Amino acid sequence: MPLPARRLEGFTESVIRKMTRVAQHHGATNLAQGFPDFDPPAELVEALARAIRGPHHQYSITWGAKNFREALARKITRFTRLPIDPEHHLVATCGSTEAMMVAMMTACNPGDKVIVFSPFYENYAADAILSGAEPIYVPLHPPGFAFDPAELARAFEQKPKALVLCNPSNPSGKVFTREELLQIAALAEKHDVFVLADEVYEHIVYAPHIHIPFATLPGMFERTLTCGSLSKTYAITGWRLGYVQAHKTVIDSAKKGHDFLTVGAAAPLQEAAVTALHFGDAYYADLQAAYTAKRDLFLGYLRQTGLPFTEPEGAYYVLLDIDSLGFPDDTAAALWLAEDGGVAGVPGSSFFREKVDRYVRFHFAKQEETLRIGGEKLLSRLSKRSR
Ligand code: GLN
Repeated sequence: MPLPARRLEGFTESVIRKMTRVAQHHGATNLAQGFPDFDPPAELVEALARAIRGPHHQYSITWGAKNFREALARKITRFTRLPIDPEHHLVATCGSTEAMMVAMMTACNPGDKVIVFSPFYENYAADAILSGAEPIYVPLHPPGFAFDPAELARAFEQKPKALVLCNPSNPSGKVFTREELLQIAALAEKHDVFVLADEVYEHIVYAPHIHIPFATLPGMFERTLTCGSLSKTYAITGWRLGYVQAHKTVIDSAKKGHDFLTVGAAAPLQEAAVTALHFGDAYYADLQAAYTAKRDLFLGYLRQTGLPFTEPEGAYYVLLDIDSLGFPDDTAAALWLAEDGGVAGVPGSSFFREKVDRYVRFHFAKQEETLRIGGEKLLSRLSKRSR
């Protein structure tokens, strides 16, 4: 029998998705894989029911249905003031997962280097490797998860083709300041590098922090491939709707990559999502308020554990420092927390390039009831472990 290709040999299975299976097996409260356990807005579900009964059962235009791109362009312009042209600046994709893969393939030639901050969302290294590119890692130093400008400058000296920026950041919850973004922008300009900006948590930011879209920085539109998603903003992770937004020259290439990868995102779902893209400002204010309440509720339990953590500034993850519990490593700690109907998180080491195994990542995109149950379970389990 022939052997499968070497390309995927080095890949380990996604630890995030593995922990969802562990949670199911043990009947644990799943605060591992980041997705909501509440429904999207009722208006959106109604729009989907209408779309399904309508004439949307065949392929849409490969780079996105016209009305979807038009609504998306208007929504982006509303929030960023960038004059986004739906014909030339957007490709709709099957979630931001495809958007990142397309962005990486569009930006990098085989053999190119790509800067990735660590800790990082696990797909970036896989995207680089599948594109034949080689990641160079630059640490974000806890507890503030800031980069050392000298370390970043040294990475740029290695002639990378692109840098991946996840802002707001999964898993650290960091929101990059304008000053930090301008430092990255200056280096990108100096070394002629693309920035692949994963901004899927753009609307989940906690005051007083604000999210600054990288493409809005002076001179950055031309070198930014923004990867966006409707998943988190509208609680529709299963709809798999994302997009790449970039300069026309870049998008002309990205359209081809996307076309040959997936042809297109699901037509009826794009049709329904137009309704979400028309939501007014109140929707986004409510979203911020709801996530702020979830964050405060869950962090309240974490404070009672007495274990250290850094308050997330955006996104919906938190890294809990379990070092003092005395487990051999974070995987042992995460499995112990999940077993027998406990609470499931993701071992933090799966997000770090460096040898860091003192964190378990929890997410709080859950109903308050689920967060209370998860929080109580965490407290009662930890009370059984002497430190
Ligand atoms: N983005 C989510 C997380 O980091 C879900 C990832 C996934 O499984 N696609 O947990």
